Amino acid sequence: MDYQARVHKLAERLRGKRGVDALLVTHLPNVRYLCGFTGSAGVLALADGGGHSFATQAALFTDGRYTTQAREEVSGARVVVGKRNPLLEASAWLKQQRARRVGFEAEHMSFATQRHIAAALAKPAKLVPTSGLVERLRMIKEREEIEQIRAAVLLASGLFDRVLRTIRPGVREADVAAELEHAARRDGAEGMSFETIVASGSRSALPHGKASAQPIQANGFVILDFGVILAGYCSDMTRTVCMGSPSKRQAELYAAVLGAQEAAIARVSPGRTVAEVDQAARSRLQKAGLGRYFTHSTGHGVGLEIHEPPRIAKGQAEKLVPGMVITIEPGVYLPGEGGVRIEDMVVVTQSGCEVLTPTTKELIALE
Ligand code: ZN
Ligand code: ZN
Repeated sequence: MDYQARVHKLAERLRGKRGVDALLVTHLPNVRYLCGFTGSAGVLALADGGGHSFATQAALFTDGRYTTQAREEVSGARVVVGKRNPLLEASAWLKQQRARRVGFEAEHMSFATQRHIAAALAKPAKLVPTSGLVERLRMIKEREEIEQIRAAVLLASGLFDRVLRTIRPGVREADVAAELEHAARRDGAEGMSFETIVASGSRSALPHGKASAQPIQANGFVILDFGVILAGYCSDMTRTVCMGSPSKRQAELYAAVLGAQEAAIARVSPGRTVAEVDQAARSRLQKAGLGRYFTHSTGHGVGLEIHEPPRIAKGQAEKLVPGMVITIEPGVYLPGEGGVRIEDMVVVTQSGCEVLTPTTKELIALE
């Protein structure tokens, strides 16, 4: 990854848009994106060295636990291992650099921390809230990132095929999740992208039904929603399977959700808004009389974080751009009855999109 190019791009936007001459990057996925550091305590400070362009000085502040790791991982920024809290060290450094308008990531910093930093910077420096600066860069994935994401998607897809064999009546949801997570680790995943969802029977009507101690019944839907992290990048997929042969009603529900999911995927192409994609799924389900049971947005961006911009939702004007990686995951949830969700990851291409998730979307019936 070309960290220096990323910092450079960011620096241009800083000067252009915000009129800030320094930035404190505290959100760890953003720190990682800009300099490669993967530790749990690190602050990246950027300062304008003056002149006509943003002649960036970048320094990563961390503590003694990460001396070796930071030196190995970080590129494009100098590494400073301080004795105090990295944020205070970074603030002191910015003071030395004579930074006047110091941007901070407003969504990721508490009020108390802001006050500490303001005190450390001292007058006349001013803290300036910024929002989504690095996230906007991260939204458009580079080729290398797309390949990392693809690898994470393929790993998870392989797990799904194997875990199907463990799903039988009487097996607890938690056991299915445990099998899946164990296999993920063995296959080289760094971890799961989020807490694995295995929701069976009437629990499948819970959009976020974490695997419970409930045994799977001989009939009803089972929703599996999970993802793995590989080289820092997340994957996310959902499939819904049916215990026993599906009833007419179950087959109809499943077909409606699949139709909505495919309609939304067909809408994904550069220049379209995310709201149009959401609407494609929503109007399909409305036509099937299921609109009010589709209670969440159609999807979200995925990358170093499991949920990142853009949100594929109503009222969002964001336009799709090649390189965005998003999920398409409509679902319906009928209280007391059950639910269906189908989720793929897709990458926006020059002409439309490519579906990354290779797993079949035909309704699988498990006896
Ligand atoms: Zn998911
Ligand atoms: Zn998702």
